[in-house]
This record gives sequence, C-alpha cells and structure tokens, in this order.
Amino acid sequence: MTKRILITGGAGFLGSHLCERLLGEGQDVLCLDNFFTGSKDNIAHLLGHPRFELIRHDITIPIYLEVDEIYNLACPASPVHYQFNPIKTIKTNVMGAINVLGIAKRTKARVLQASTSEVYGDPDVHPQQESYWGRVNPIGIRSCYDEGKRAAECLMMDYRRQNAVNTKIVRIFNTYGPRMAVNDGRVVSNFIIQALRGKNITVYGDGSHTRSFCYCDDLIDGLVRMMNSSDDFFGPVNIGNPGEFTILELARLVIDLTGSSSKIDFQPLPADDPAQRKPDITLAKNKLDWLPKIPLEQGLINTITYFQEILQKQS
Ligand code: NAD
Ligand code: UDP
Repeated sequence: MTKRILITGGAGFLGSHLCERLLGEGQDVLCLDNFFTGSKDNIAHLLGHPRFELIRHDITIPIYLEVDEIYNLACPASPVHYQFNPIKTIKTNVMGAINVLGIAKRTKARVLQASTSEVYGDPDVHPQQESYWGRVNPIGIRSCYDEGKRAAECLMMDYRRQNAVNTKIVRIFNTYGPRMAVNDGRVVSNFIIQALRGKNITVYGDGSHTRSFCYCDDLIDGLVRMMNSSDDFFGPVNIGNPGEFTILELARLVIDLTGSSSKIDFQPLPADDPAQRKPDITLAKNKLDWLPKIPLEQGLINTITYFQEILQKQS
C-alpha cells in the first residue's frame, strides 16, 4: 500500500536523495523545507512527479499534515552553516522535533530522527558504539548542534515512553556525495571544489584527526531499512562507513583523483573539533542486515564528477 511520507529537510543533500528513493518505491512524498541550506535545484527534477509535493515551511513552526511516516532531517549539518545562527540551530532541533512528534502523536505516524555521531562529541572511546554516552562540550561553538541533536534524541525517547509514539533514532556519521552544496563547507565538498579550482586545500590542524566517510546511497539505504524495521527496534543505531582516514589522507586522495596541482594549506583547527571518529556498525549489521557498499575512492569519483558538472555550469 502506498504510504504518505513526510521528509523534513527534503530539499537538502540527504533529503533530496531520500525523496528520490521513496518515490522510486511508489510512495507519496511530502518534502518540507525552508531552503536555508537546501535548494530547489536538488528537487527540481521531482516537481512534476504526481506523487511528490513540496511545502515551503519552517519546522520550528507547528504544521498540520496527515502522514504515515516522518523522516526528520531538517537541520543545517555543516559546522559553517549551523554556527551561522546557533540559536536557530538549536530551535530547529528542539522545536522541530516537538512539532514532528506532535504530528506523529496525532496521526500515529512512525518518526525517524536523523541524529548524528556528534552526540559522541570528542570521543574517548574508539570506535563509537551506541552504548557510549559521549563527551560533548555543552557550552562550546558546536553545542548548538550537538546538544540540539541530543535533546532531539531525548524527545524521541520521552514521546515513545510517555505517549507511545513509534520513534526511531539513527546516528549518522559523516556522509558525502552529489548534491552537497558548493558553499557547504564540509570537508569532502571543500577539498573537491578547491582541487577542481586549482586552489589550496585547506587542512585544519596538522591533518592527523580522523573521520569515517559514508557515501550517500549507502546512508539512505540504512535510513530506509531502519524506518522499515520491526517496532521493537528503535535504536539508536549508528549508520556510517567504518573505514577511517586522516584528513591529510583525504586531501591527498582528492588531489590524486582530480589530477589537481593544488597544494596543502594548513590552517588553525576550529575549537572542539573531534580528534577521531569511526562507527561501530555491529548493531546495524545484526538488526538491519545493513553494510556500506561504496568504498571511499568510488564515492569520491562520483562526487568529483558531480562537482565538475556543477562548476562547468557556473563558469
Ligand atoms: P543539509 O544542510 O543539506 O540539509 C538540511 C536541510 O534542512 C536543508 O534542506 C535545509 O534547508 C533544511 N532546514 C534547515 N533548517 C530548517 C527548518 N528550520 N525548517 C525546515 N527545513 C530546514 O544537510 P544534510 O547533510 O542533508 O543533513 C540532513 C540531516 O542529516 C540533518 O538533520 C543532519 O544533522 C543529519 N546528519 C547529516 C550528516 C552528514 O554527514 N551529511 C551527518 C550527521 C547527521
Ligand atoms: N576540515 C578541514 N578542512 C576543511 C573543512 C573541514 O580540514 O576545509 C576538517 C575539520 O576540521 C574536521 C574534518 O575535516 O576535522 C571534518 O569536518 P566537517 O566540517 O566535514 O565535519 P565534522 O565531522 O567536523 O562535523
């Protein structure tokens, strides 16, 4: 049976891939977005689709919709964007969660919260398992996002316990791919665009800090599997690629794959930047039968091809 599915943040990088995936499965998709970091270009090709609806709305404001499922993705994800208006970021996380949970309570919809590896902060446990409570600075420049996402997780669990809302939590680790915005500011898109433009590659710190990079198609598959999993599995569950790379390794790989003559420019490390991150994905493997399939090199090639086309159009 066709389900009516709300995707908040549906015009963003991940949201637009999710809209496509669910339309492809024959579902009705309601894409809600305020276009802060998302763009109409990401969903322009879906606008004429008979099962696709676009709602320009800010999720901090209540809205009445009749739906079967909600993927709550609305929130700027890049540090540059979530630190632009930090008060708005925490409002989006907290009031956005309350508003989607209100819809879910009234309509009995299932809600999936796009949480983040940032709930682990600068971790002293490696790799990170879901049972780890994290090491987050509650008053730092990343806390509008980290604490906002932690509060959203808390709300998911309290609505589950108090109001029997069917909630699910996915902790997303760094994900990249086509449709990241050119001005996104996250490391993969920054490095690719700098390399394609022949500009210096901006490595913050000495480049020894690590991240694990997941390709968007793998991530979307994990989100959908979690939404479709049995009621008694509600997470939180890590979704990410456990391959761990230093930022310097990433910079060198991007230079190699683009054939760029760019040089590496070491810049100061921003405050509270986590030193290492790698998901333990045993739970996702066991409960969702999920494993990432796209290796970093292949994902980067796809993303480089995308940005080459975008930059060509802009020139
Ligand atoms: P993105 O910035 O491309 O997408 C976020 C979308 O939310 C944008 O379309 C933006 O316009 C919209 N939005 C922001 N505030 C809103 C508001 N108040 N009302 C309505 N819409 C609003 O980022 P993304 O990478 O696609 O991330 C999507 C979700 O996944 C976010 O919740 C993010 O925190 C989470 N996540 C992403 C990653 C990643 O590496 N991509 C990692 C962890 C968590
Ligand atoms: N980073 C970098 N150069 C950039 C952008 C980011 O060296 O141009 C580093 C950043 O300091 C962090 C890592 O890359 O250690 C990942 O940053 P990103 O903003 O992509 O995501 P985060 O995981 O920090 O939220």
